[in-house]
Amino acid sequence: MQGLMQQPPLLISTILRHAARHHAAGEIVSKTTEGAIHRTTYAALESRARRLTRVLARLGIGEQDRVGTLAWNGYRHLEVYYAAPGMGAICHTINPRLHPDDIAFIITHAGDAVLFADTSFTALLETIAPRLKDCVRAIVLMTESANMPALALPSGMALHCYDDLMDAADDDFTWPSFEETTASALCYTSGTTGRPKGVLYSHRSTVLHAYAISMPDVLCLRATDRILPVVPMFHVNAWGIPYGAALAGTSLVLPGRHLDGASLHALLNAERVNFTCGVPTVWMVLLAHLRATGGRLDTLRRIMTGGSACPPLLIEAFGAEHGVAVEHGWGMTELSPVGTYNTPKPVHADLGTAERDHLMLKQGRVLAGIDMKIVDGDGRELPWDGAAFGDLKVCGPWVCSAYYGDAPGSALDTDGWFATGDVATIDPDGLMEITDRSKDVIKSGGEWISSITLENIALSHPDVAEAAVIAAHHPKWDERPVLIVVAREGRTIDPEDLLRVYAGKVAKWWLPDAVVVVPELPHTATGKLQKTALRARYRDHLGAGG
Ligand code: ADP
Repeated sequence: MQGLMQQPPLLISTILRHAARHHAAGEIVSKTTEGAIHRTTYAALESRARRLTRVLARLGIGEQDRVGTLAWNGYRHLEVYYAAPGMGAICHTINPRLHPDDIAFIITHAGDAVLFADTSFTALLETIAPRLKDCVRAIVLMTESANMPALALPSGMALHCYDDLMDAADDDFTWPSFEETTASALCYTSGTTGRPKGVLYSHRSTVLHAYAISMPDVLCLRATDRILPVVPMFHVNAWGIPYGAALAGTSLVLPGRHLDGASLHALLNAERVNFTCGVPTVWMVLLAHLRATGGRLDTLRRIMTGGSACPPLLIEAFGAEHGVAVEHGWGMTELSPVGTYNTPKPVHADLGTAERDHLMLKQGRVLAGIDMKIVDGDGRELPWDGAAFGDLKVCGPWVCSAYYGDAPGSALDTDGWFATGDVATIDPDGLMEITDRSKDVIKSGGEWISSITLENIALSHPDVAEAAVIAAHHPKWDERPVLIVVAREGRTIDPEDLLRVYAGKVAKWWLPDAVVVVPELPHTATGKLQKTALRARYRDHLGAGG
């Protein structure tokens, strides 16, 4: 027997319509590329998104066509976010920080028909345009006509001004209904571990993810909140915040390209932001700015950090110096992206501050809707004892099943699980902790050593600004850890003194075999340590070869 309930499809346009009808005055504040503050509301966003569907149709965009964006967090980008999927097309966000070759590869692989770009990226567009002429028909610069730059484009590729197109269009459009499994957005992994691969989200996966991240023990989004996503909208849909915020009626503050410590600090205070989200590097920069200037955070209460491991200093310093809670989440492009979030359970109620801070470094509990497990090299499930670590696998309605262009299901194992490429422990309370990427874990004499654990301990030394641990070849043990560090400004690192920081914290056989001090470490386009480059350079540092 079938249940007798309504079955409207879960569509992205329903999120926007809800926000416009029930949170009409919810604010969307943007710092534009030019530096001005622009204000709008959810009601205006919905009408402007309808207007934009008319523009898209005029540009020849039809169902399932890919609409590329090269843009910072701002209201025009948000309009594309809703207009393209709302009309049945696909919003393809592109990371402008990637190498131009990768960007050109991604755009042609996706087959983007039109590109919407911020004026910050005109030089990049001129560089790659000749390679895009087989797919991209038009470039729309997201600005007003007074700020339109001249752009040399190949013949056949039109150049438009966003505001001019919008001014010439009307908003006479009704959001259509279609199957909720229709593709809505496309995002390529940043390629930390290889060539970028496309993850193709659906309306259903996006709406379910938006509900899940809004829950109290996750982002806990409320209509009275004001959230500033520092995480770019070109990086996994800004962690789903543009959708979750609209669902909850939360006001959005979008920082544009102004991501330095001083700009963020000013915007957080001026716009009375109480919650902000981004990668640890951003928070380290903000902290350094606050410490240097004696600046205060007037309204901020919570910071969500994710994308790479949370340095212990972040939780301690923001808590002690500003009364701001740092919350830790984990996810990946293939998971829409949020998979786990760290908020306490009743069993953690009696813990002291130090114990709780330590626990908060874990990546957290799985979101309702996702399941996870850890397995050994033979695929056998490992116990949830907080000690055994193995490959982390996940499944659920917002986990990808195949990469763009591949056969459905091809990214899954025979039981339908997706291997994350992360290595983790899970404790008896269900808190997952990443101990490594499977490619980064150090396999010493058949036993595994966590590079992240060794990095975090190195970072607790007062002379160390940044640390990376990689596996170097070793004739006897196969692989051994090598620690590569950058000194804090004005400090010098003494390798022997640094190694003493490990005493009593890890087993003796985990100790790095060598310490290398370097002026800087290589990073990827999303600010993560580029361990592939470090491995290439230091693989034979212990003189082993092979
Ligand atoms: P890429 O795979 O190209 O780096 P993603 O942004 O999808 O791009 O990165 C996902 C990966 O980032 C995860 O698989 C994990 O290794 C890492 N990651 C994300 N969040 C955290 C976190 N809180 N702690 C440690 N690692 C994290």
